[in-house]
Amino acid sequence: MKLLSVIVPCYNEEETVADFYTEFMKNKEFFDKKELDYEIIYIDDGSKDKTVEEIKKLHDMDEKVHMVSFSRNFGKEAAMFAGFEHAKGDYIVTMDVDLQDPPSLLPEMFGYLEEGYDSVATRRVSRKGEPMIRSFFARRFYRLMQKISKTEIVDGARDYRLMTRQMVDAILSMKEYNRFTKGIYGWVGFKTKWIEFQNVERQKGTTKWSFWKLLIYSLEGIMAFSTAPLAIASIIGILFCVLAFCMIVFIIVRTLIFGDPTSGWPSMICILCLVSGVQLFCMGIVGQYLSKAYMEVKKRPIYIAREEL
Ligand code: UDP
Ligand code: MG
Repeated sequence: MKLLSVIVPCYNEEETVADFYTEFMKNKEFFDKKELDYEIIYIDDGSKDKTVEEIKKLHDMDEKVHMVSFSRNFGKEAAMFAGFEHAKGDYIVTMDVDLQDPPSLLPEMFGYLEEGYDSVATRRVSRKGEPMIRSFFARRFYRLMQKISKTEIVDGARDYRLMTRQMVDAILSMKEYNRFTKGIYGWVGFKTKWIEFQNVERQKGTTKWSFWKLLIYSLEGIMAFSTAPLAIASIIGILFCVLAFCMIVFIIVRTLIFGDPTSGWPSMICILCLVSGVQLFCMGIVGQYLSKAYMEVKKRPIYIAREEL
């Protein structure tokens, strides 16, 4: 019998933990037919509500439900990593607990694995029910990523993905601290089948991602999978050198022809402000990469578990 490991990150999800289980178990018949065993690994990402209690209730009912509970909130990326580390399955799937990743797609996804794919990924083709400004920036982010990163990062891609053991082992071999799973999936490669579905709105509870949290996350994604911003610093530097050279030639020629009227003090201040601004901006970019490198060098664990079931 083959084993399917289901990784479900939860952060303050007391309302949805049980619903997810019920919905997932609707596939039981399919699993029996395919002679598939399952294990559900709920990762409690330092929830402050009754999430842990809810998971324990399920564990008492069904021994195939497991839990890893973090000592604090480490973020969804860390939760997924912990899930990969604990999963024993031949196939591994990551899913959100809020049922935005419909478990009913699993049979179709399995079909593709049987056809020889290593991974079946999902993307939503609509963003119905999402705030407009959020969708707008999300689209811009993916557009930008496609331009500046060699790693394939697909617009609308969800973290809902069914993978073979081999692919998960490859993901686990990437021990980086600043994790951006969407990029990691693309980076490790393997034959991936994309399936599309319409956006499903969250059943209960509220989203755990504020606009700012998403913005910072997207910047992390850019830094983890592209060094293009570093090149910006050099390019702007070169542009300003060329500009300065032209200006020097212009001023020398003007002084030789018209004498030196000592004007242009205000414009000088403007240029000074502009150039120092650009310099600080570029230094900031370098600083961001340096800070990421600093965190990597520390080799801190990606998560700390407080309790495991
Ligand atoms: N999540 C998590 N840690 C966090 C934030 C979110 O484990 O710090 C989980 C959350 O419980 C859910 C999934 O990640 O299962 C997706 O979060 P959410 O539905 O809030 O995001 P959205 O779908 O709105 O992008
Ligand atoms: Mg959600």
